[in-house]
Amino acid sequence: MRRSITVFPKLTDKEVSAIVETRKQYARAFNMSVDCLVTNNSTSKRFLHKVQYERIKEECPTLPTGLIQCARDVAVEAVKTWNVKRTKLKQKHPKRAERMKRPSMKEKCTMRYDVRTVTLRGSQLTFSTCDRRIRTIILIPGFFTERYPETDGWKLKGANIGIDRKGRVFVNLIYECHDPVIEENKDGKIVGLDRGVYNIVTTSECVHYGAKDVRRVKRKYNHVRSVLQEKGTRSAKRRLKSISGCEKRFVHDQNHCISKKLANTDEDVSIYVLEDLSSMNMKRLKGKSNKTMRKWLSAWSYSDLEFKLAYKCQRNGIRVEFVDARYTSQKCCVCKTIDKASRKGNRYVCRHCGNSMHADVNAAINIRDSYITQTSKSGQAAVNQPYGWSATGKPETEPVGKTLTSKPSGLS
Ligand SMILES: [Zn+2]
Repeated sequence: MRRSITVFPKLTDKEVSAIVETRKQYARAFNMSVDCLVTNNSTSKRFLHKVQYERIKEECPTLPTGLIQCARDVAVEAVKTWNVKRTKLKQKHPKRAERMKRPSMKEKCTMRYDVRTVTLRGSQLTFSTCDRRIRTIILIPGFFTERYPETDGWKLKGANIGIDRKGRVFVNLIYECHDPVIEENKDGKIVGLDRGVYNIVTTSECVHYGAKDVRRVKRKYNHVRSVLQEKGTRSAKRRLKSISGCEKRFVHDQNHCISKKLANTDEDVSIYVLEDLSSMNMKRLKGKSNKTMRKWLSAWSYSDLEFKLAYKCQRNGIRVEFVDARYTSQKCCVCKTIDKASRKGNRYVCRHCGNSMHADVNAAINIRDSYITQTSKSGQAAVNQPYGWSATGKPETEPVGKTLTSKPSGLS
């Protein structure tokens, strides 16, 4: 298990310029390593070290050896991922795979440090650069040391050091600890979660987490931004710079609050089921929806919520599972008929059986039920039964040979 925290140390101009120079040489070392690996068709660290180390040392004379090794390790990882991606692409589009660019690093990169090149003793942080080792005092927030204490086995594993858009040097400290054995809650309920633009999350237990505040704040910043951009004066640009990030921080905070509430629920929950939106084709969706919808969609932070929910639930022994996102908002949760016309705004009124309920709750129940069907089909016992029908009974009927547009629920 890993956790990270970012700190902004106060450094002198000389130290900052040393970091800038280190970054340049680090990127060069990385690019040289990648070139060597790709041309020799290898992913071996030992081979790379044998062949390329002396040459990198010549090209980047002041880059510390420890950092050359870090750049090498990052390069090996990057080439490995690149190879996997390329092999996958080759099966579908051989020409595109040929054209795929090899991994490269720019001068404004973020450097990865390991335990040899960065140390933290008490509040004194030291890390190597081209010039000499920088020593600085940092303050790690109390909540972090309280939650992840050394006594529980949390150890500094390394750091990412770089310079952000505002010109500040940041140090992203990475802590690691052996995965604690958390007993999974196996007898609890399965709860479906439907994510959307109007309600961030709706549970199959009829609890709504509205997006009213998020939408209000986004609307406000959109307006302020457009006014300032139109003005274009120097002070307007200054103001734009200062508000950039405010909106993002607000959305992140909302996602933190919601995922925390879900993970620390009073009810006995063993599994949260979400719809899998990773394969959602945003571009195709954008072509079909109107301008306002497009704007909300592009700013929709569903993956961030997913990530936060997953790690918070893991801590509490709740599992997070994913199911196919198709038809969840068009299907009736009682009679399982798929009919797009049954959905009207935020109500779902089934034209087949007359079931009437909130559209997002209907979708959340569908998400939960399709997980239960999936697991009972694959031989695992279903924990609780879906409403209206027996879990072991009739299988779900999906339309065959019929092409319906697949939209994530809550959007259609
Ligand atoms: Zn129905």
